[in-house]
Amino acid sequence: MDKSSTRLSLPTNPREFGFFVDGAYVPAGSREVFSRNSPGHDVPVTRIPKCTEEDLDMAVDSARAAFDDRRWSGLNGQARAAVLLRAGALIRERAKEIAYFETLENGKPISQARAEVAGCADMFEYASGLARSLHGDSFNNLGDGMLGLVTREPVGVVGIITPWNFPFLILCERVPYILASGCTIVAKPSEVTSATTLILAEILTEAGLPHGCMNVVTGSGSTIGQALIEHPRVDMLSFTGSTAVGRRVVEAAGRSNFKKLGLELGGKNPQIVFADADLEDAADGVAFGIGFNTGQCCVSGSRLIVERTVAEKFSQMVRDKFAKVVVGDPLDEATQIGAITTDAQNRTIMAYIEKGRTEGARLICGGEQMDFGRGRYIAPTLFADVTAEMSIAREEIFGPVLTIMPFDTVDEAIKIANDTEYGLAASVWTKNIDKALMVTRRVQAGRFWVNTTLAGGPELPLGGFKQSGWGREAGMYGVEEYTQIKSVHIEIGKRTPWIA
Ligand code: NAD
Repeated sequence: MDKSSTRLSLPTNPREFGFFVDGAYVPAGSREVFSRNSPGHDVPVTRIPKCTEEDLDMAVDSARAAFDDRRWSGLNGQARAAVLLRAGALIRERAKEIAYFETLENGKPISQARAEVAGCADMFEYASGLARSLHGDSFNNLGDGMLGLVTREPVGVVGIITPWNFPFLILCERVPYILASGCTIVAKPSEVTSATTLILAEILTEAGLPHGCMNVVTGSGSTIGQALIEHPRVDMLSFTGSTAVGRRVVEAAGRSNFKKLGLELGGKNPQIVFADADLEDAADGVAFGIGFNTGQCCVSGSRLIVERTVAEKFSQMVRDKFAKVVVGDPLDEATQIGAITTDAQNRTIMAYIEKGRTEGARLICGGEQMDFGRGRYIAPTLFADVTAEMSIAREEIFGPVLTIMPFDTVDEAIKIANDTEYGLAASVWTKNIDKALMVTRRVQAGRFWVNTTLAGGPELPLGGFKQSGWGREAGMYGVEEYTQIKSVHIEIGKRTPWIA
């Protein structure tokens, strides 16, 4: 087939969005509008309103009223499950459109965006079952005169702030579980990738979610995001983004109403490769772990820690993989690595590459921008002779840049892996089960992969150790995060009097 025939075309006009409150769009009207250009092509693709603080108040009021009158939390699990299931089906129906806007705004390959959207539908389907299974506990061993119940109640109004790297996926790792718990939502997507969050709000309304349960405000982090984290009528906030902004979220919660927080922050994730691994599999997995989403993943495997006896050979194997990976137009079906999402991120990555060079690391491959006539692209980059104190070994680059450090013993591999302020994810590659389990136990990370990387799904929870965050999303753990626990003591029969 002619390659050009497998490339989607760009939109002729950018799509105009409003923001979403109480079950319907509010048009931008006289508000300022953010015009988003496709990072792969530099053409305008969406126009998104910049909400004001009054808009945010309106969205919070809507979510507050929907929570307080119990129009959602008062339904039984079966009714909530039915809405979530319908939403899953509607996501599947609109999958092409959602993936298209995800690619246009983010720059990720269209095939990847489609796979992510299918995964998102699956999350709604899975969470629908959880809406019915969520339950508490009972204590029937408190004596004949007492029964103890532990019930779970939804926390209330939940604010969600998401980053630009997986706008739809990260949203769907939260929304269905939050709705399964009975909470209502005010979401604020990243200003550069708001389209698919707004489309999800449309879908939920169509699926029968009562009005007011899913609201979306759009705009910048420093204005509308900051106002949301400080909002006194928001009961919980789920923040996904950088550790620096995460710190502001914690401060704001302390200053306002001590809202409950879920935080998913940065990572500097180790890939530990032992000499006895299937090196071919490991090289493919390591290249995927840093190339996927152009390395703009919180869980990217950005630190390769490899047994010294195979280090040189293995670095050549990874370099060969990088040479074959298809970098290019995100709208092309064949593309595996697309564009860098923002100009700022492109500058950050290039500055780290320069720092790696000046700090004395040895560049094995990549290290430069790739020129496709428009958009911004960076070749997968590999640095050897990296030492623990270099900034490319310590700081989250959030780009396709992999550093290599050798080790001689299992203990040394674990020590290098744990030598970071982060603890989000880790992978180990070995055919020796003892080594695999020892490393899995002792490396501090909320997600672990053995002889694979970046595997996921709705069943297993997500979250980090150390400065990578607080709490867990997805799975039943994710639903329970959005509940409060209430203890109930029930006296049976006649009370033993206090006053005779
Ligand atoms: P960011 O922290 O700059 O922005 C994330 C979100 O926070 C955006 O919606 C932004 O508008 C908003 N924001 C910015 N300033 C704010 C403020 N003062 N108050 C409230 N909200 C504010 O992060 P980013 O550049 O969009 O994404 C990259 C970062 O996100 C990386 O550090 C990455 O590791 C992290 N991330 C973590 C996970 C995870 O699950 N742990 C997932 C994806 C991304």
